[in-house]
Amino acid sequence: MPYPIVEQWYLRQEHPDGITRFWEPHVHPLEQANFWHVRGRDRDLLIDSGMGIVPLRTSFPDLFEGRETIALATHTNIDHIGAVHEFEHRWVHPAEAHHMESPSGLTTIVASDIDPELCRLFVEAGYPPFDELLVDAFPYEGFDPRSYRLRGAPPTRLVTEEDVIDLGDRQFRLLHLPGHSPGSLGVWEEATGTLFTGDVVYDGPLVYEGPGMDLDIYAATLRELRDMPVSIIHAGHDPSFGPARLGEIVDRYLALWGRT
Ligand SMILES: [Zn+2]
Repeated sequence: MPYPIVEQWYLRQEHPDGITRFWEPHVHPLEQANFWHVRGRDRDLLIDSGMGIVPLRTSFPDLFEGRETIALATHTNIDHIGAVHEFEHRWVHPAEAHHMESPSGLTTIVASDIDPELCRLFVEAGYPPFDELLVDAFPYEGFDPRSYRLRGAPPTRLVTEEDVIDLGDRQFRLLHLPGHSPGSLGVWEEATGTLFTGDVVYDGPLVYEGPGMDLDIYAATLRELRDMPVSIIHAGHDPSFGPARLGEIVDRYLALWGRT
């Protein structure tokens, strides 16, 4: 089956407060992550970096050229660290440092190369089954999906709870939010009530069963999040949402897991 060629692989949307959201519309919903750029006075912050199917940095010179950018990984799944190797500053939680350097598990976009057990867990969580590929278009003529492999890079700094990312005019405190993965990080700007949650919580089917996931730990993390004074949550997937929706999502999963 021929795949259409698309000129724009990434889409972007400007949010208030110097925040830009990116996503890859032609990637399967399971791996179609949001990643976020925050403009600062002295340096910028990139929270996650998509699949790495197309170079990110050179696609957006207005955001990256001539700027110091800290590329933080909320965790190290394929849809969140794809382009991290393009950046000089690569920050991650120690529990996932090894996986950033040498990715394992899901590292391909060819469905038949993916562990069937993983595929089953994703479908059970509420995602559509995979077709032949995890993309429905190609970024350029001659693109070979079999040549794609998630490429890691060694972290340049290990960070955890209470570490602060200082952009000069705005400060983000890191939160350790284990559950979806052992080293999941949240990024919290107290001054604006803005919280980036990665895949710990988003407004879609959460993935909570699989390697490195623990329901008791995940439940404790969700309870902690529910009590935070957030105004907006920018998540690793799906649209952003406010505190009321956060409460609904947390309560729904705690009930589902029998851990209210
Ligand atoms: Zn994800």
